[in-house]
Amino acid sequence: MPSQDWVVVGLDNGGNKNNGTVLDPTRGFLVDSLVETRSRVQEGPDVAVAALVEAFDGILARTKVARAMVRAVGLDTPGPASAEGVISSRGSTNFAHPGWHGYDFRSAVEKRLGLPVVYSNDGNAAALYAHHVCFGAEANRHSSVSAIVGTGLGGGVIEAGRIVTGAAGMAGELGHVHIPMAGLLGPGQPVPHCNCGFDGDAESVASLTGIEKNLLPYWLTRFEGHELGKVTPPAKAAMMVRSFGEKGDPLGRKIFEQQAMALGRLFTIAANFTDPGAYFVGGGVVETAAEFREWFLARVRENTILREEQARVARFALVPDLDMAGARGAALAALDSLRGR
Ligand SMILES: [Zn+2]
Repeated sequence: MPSQDWVVVGLDNGGNKNNGTVLDPTRGFLVDSLVETRSRVQEGPDVAVAALVEAFDGILARTKVARAMVRAVGLDTPGPASAEGVISSRGSTNFAHPGWHGYDFRSAVEKRLGLPVVYSNDGNAAALYAHHVCFGAEANRHSSVSAIVGTGLGGGVIEAGRIVTGAAGMAGELGHVHIPMAGLLGPGQPVPHCNCGFDGDAESVASLTGIEKNLLPYWLTRFEGHELGKVTPPAKAAMMVRSFGEKGDPLGRKIFEQQAMALGRLFTIAANFTDPGAYFVGGGVVETAAEFREWFLARVRENTILREEQARVARFALVPDLDMAGARGAALAALDSLRGR
């Protein structure tokens, strides 16, 4: 039972799973583990909205919170979507079913639940959670930037404790910021191409897709006979690079070094753009052995060029509880909206 008389619920909608949490007004989470149910997004909006309602009821039952105590719901999904939660008219990897194209996801969930729903992009939600964990009660007085390496490169920008969404909801698309490639690429390594159409943006290097399409094929030519060269399909080999890096394999470390360099260069741009107080790194690397993730974070920091005054105040950290960060950040955004912030 919550210590206050009302709560907000956070619902993280993913490609396969929904994850839920409950937050009280003192920013205490009533759920301390991952609570997942099937998201069924591939079956289209009607089925997926019903699955979210199920996730909502499930998390309330689990925390023994009465429905009448819920004042708002935070919903986060992968993009691209507008700041108001309308899925892109061109669809996306997660929302391939034609019913999703241009679908007003936020309003649909709001209507079904009969409660105000606050929408966040999943990278932004995780960024907001990392920000709150780092700054606690002082969150509203600080700014931060988060980069989360997955299939693509997501994340978010937080200013004075709030997600910067932008006019069209496209702010914080850090993956598609161009970064300098000189000194990052190895001899003869082609400039990586991103799915967005750009060459040499941050995601073209710092993503699983970047490993598969560019980094791994290149480094396999430098480490002839490497085990990963025999693994098929290439997507599987790309996913295995992390465990090789964790074991200290030289090819694995080269690839993660390039990714850390890309994130450092991206953060250098952030340092000159909004001069944030904290830089967070998330993604698969967070789930690795402590030695490896500390090594990775230290490489990111080394490659982030800060002025002396900035270096004195800047914090570098990993995004905590990555599997729960989306739901928790979505709940925090809903709580903030109630306070008229
Ligand atoms: Zn891109």
